[in-house]
Amino acid sequence: MLMNRTRSKPTRFNFGSGPSQLPEIVHEQIQAAIDEFDGSGLSILEISHRDERVLALIGSVERSLRDLLSISDDYAVLLCNFSASLQFAALPMNLISESEAIVVEVSGYWSDRAAREFERTHSVWRFQGSLDAGPSRQDSHTARERMMGSRVPGFVFHCDNETIEGIEWPFVPENRYHGIPCARVTDMSSNLLTRPFVVEDYDAIFASCQKSLGLPGMSLLIIRRDCLNDASRYCPTVMNYSEIARAGSVLNTLPVLSLYTMKVMLEWVAGEGGVAEMERRARARSRLMYSFIDQSALYKNEVPAGCRSRINIPFDLPSAPLTEKFLAGAEHRGLMQLRGHRSRGGVRASLYNAMSMAGVEALLGWMSEFEQAQAIERTE
Ligand code: PMP
Repeated sequence: MLMNRTRSKPTRFNFGSGPSQLPEIVHEQIQAAIDEFDGSGLSILEISHRDERVLALIGSVERSLRDLLSISDDYAVLLCNFSASLQFAALPMNLISESEAIVVEVSGYWSDRAAREFERTHSVWRFQGSLDAGPSRQDSHTARERMMGSRVPGFVFHCDNETIEGIEWPFVPENRYHGIPCARVTDMSSNLLTRPFVVEDYDAIFASCQKSLGLPGMSLLIIRRDCLNDASRYCPTVMNYSEIARAGSVLNTLPVLSLYTMKVMLEWVAGEGGVAEMERRARARSRLMYSFIDQSALYKNEVPAGCRSRINIPFDLPSAPLTEKFLAGAEHRGLMQLRGHRSRGGVRASLYNAMSMAGVEALLGWMSEFEQAQAIERTE
């Protein structure tokens, strides 16, 4: 029996932090490719990662990324067959020697997770509070003393958008510590393709794929070609950046469905007006959310205005039972996956590129209704 695959207009909005909402057209194209991929006679689920159509797909993903983010030929674009968490382990093994240290700007959960992974193999110097101090901050005396020890900084690391706390860096942190220059590496898992940035400001940029690039499991790495050195002898081959680059990203069996989803996502971004348009929309969505939260007596977001994320907006209600009631009501209205991260609790609205203004308005409608109902309950 032929199934009717026509999807009715979405009545649900997915506010999940990743996997996250995909545009409707992406769902449709994936469904068509599951039937048959690109005239191959095969489903996208069964086709070999070495089929010429799939190799063309990889070429197309790379070209789209280069166009959308103005990536010059000085940089390699690698599609890594492992997640962003594993990049935390891969980066030191690929970029620096064992005797070099890593400077981590700790601004939340993910930069802390990265620091803890780096600490397994390298000395890590943690810096806190740079966000408050601004781009020209001075390192503390103790930090300076530690830096003047026997080790030199290999790279400075920051997480450009802290997905859990909803903190986004409004500037690029320094890549020089007390006169010692070092490489600069950033995790853009949750804000890549949501605003234009200067690729040349970084030596390596990586992102998980389950937010603005499609499906989980893979990560994207944009790396200055002259950073493609010999990796540590302990580095597994499939995590060795030079090997991945040499193999054109096809070192082992790649998840073709994820690649295809990435291709369609990138085409969608380009068709909608590119990264500058994504930025305009992200600003409009987040402005609406924050202005509502700031005038509300019920919902709170404590992140300082200057570094509030445009993408992940956490907020709190006064008690856990009230939060549960809010979340249950939201789900009932098709406002899905709003529960805050388990480390933080509360509520979090993730507004990636595919989130429409209609989704934000539906959420604000429920927030307003819920707040009014609470006010009435209190006065009764
Ligand atoms: N970095 C950031 C900023 C993230 O938000 C996440 C996942 N939410 C990760 C790294 C880890 O990604 P993965 O779970 O795919 O390893």
